[in-house]
Amino acid sequence: MPEISLGIIGSGQLGSLLCQAAKKLNIKTVVISDDEQGPAQNYSDQFIFAKYDDKDKIKEFISKVHVVTYEFENIPFEILKSIDKVRKVLPKPDINKIIQNRKLEKTFVNDLGIRTTEWAFIKSVEDVKKNEKLLPGILKTNTLGYDGHGQFVLNSLDDIKKDWCFTADYILEKKVNLKKEISVVISRFVNNEIYTYEPIENIHKDQILKYSKIPADITGEIFKKAQVNAKLIAEKLDFRGTLCVEYFIDQNNNLLVNEIAPRVHNSGHLTINAFNISQFENHVRAVCGLSLKKVQKIANAEMINILGEEIEEYRKKSYNDREFFFDYGKKAIKDKRKMGHLTVLKN
Ligand code: ADP
Ligand code: MG
Repeated sequence: MPEISLGIIGSGQLGSLLCQAAKKLNIKTVVISDDEQGPAQNYSDQFIFAKYDDKDKIKEFISKVHVVTYEFENIPFEILKSIDKVRKVLPKPDINKIIQNRKLEKTFVNDLGIRTTEWAFIKSVEDVKKNEKLLPGILKTNTLGYDGHGQFVLNSLDDIKKDWCFTADYILEKKVNLKKEISVVISRFVNNEIYTYEPIENIHKDQILKYSKIPADITGEIFKKAQVNAKLIAEKLDFRGTLCVEYFIDQNNNLLVNEIAPRVHNSGHLTINAFNISQFENHVRAVCGLSLKKVQKIANAEMINILGEEIEEYRKKSYNDREFFFDYGKKAIKDKRKMGHLTVLKN
């Protein structure tokens, strides 16, 4: 196999895990990041510290790689597009344009005949008043949200404070009485082959993922529908790489798409140990043009996200051969920051 060099934009834990997967495949990695301390530099073959609009640094980055991917979706579209003119960016930038914008994302999903939460596009207080039927609801910034950032709960119109300024565009979503949250991780390859992992059950705390497990405790019907929807989404986007569809299941067993992540996903971390081929390896294989290899499940599993200072205690523990502790090696411990995770294999 000729040597392949993969460019990765972003240097957090997802970037680190992508670099590790690439290493296994003898694929070289070059990471570019605006975080000088980004942990992925500990695993990449080369690291470029730069602002994403630094044209010279981007040029240097492009010159070193054959194909470019990214670990987070909030990279400005214009930057991805300009890179794509010289080196292929996968998943393609047009997909990112849809998914980084909640309005376009939900419209895309609804147009496929797939249900989301009920929602409305909001530009002003007047728009909220017009959509009072969506309360209690959650107001989310239309772009740039993650881990619950940019979200505001509105139980009634009284919650819109007089001094509220609508400085950005928002989406107002009806609050779902959740029975469960699940996600489906799916990888799509160069010849349109697809591998769909089984649905993963997720528990969030303060809007941050805390715990994931397989098998998800869901009906066979929901299992199938969640996978079929994810496949349709990946196909319609002409997606290349690994994608994750986050779902809500309401009290009446309705399956609703919450959001799509056009990348490897935190809930899929358990695939590293529970499958012979992880979401990361499948992503690297797909964007580098390798074909799908037979994916096999090794065991059921649970994954716990380790946030903030919790990491200190996990660093001191010892682990057996069914427990896999990942320390992301982030220099600064911050409240609620994802510092590591633990996967435990089950029978
Ligand atoms: P982020 O982009 O920050 O991941 P999400 O829209 O996925 O934002 O919201 C994070 C979490 O907040 C969800 O996984 C869920 O637990 C909760 N949440 C978000 N929207 C709703 C909703 N409409 N109804 C009920 N819970 C919600
Ligand atoms: Mg989410």
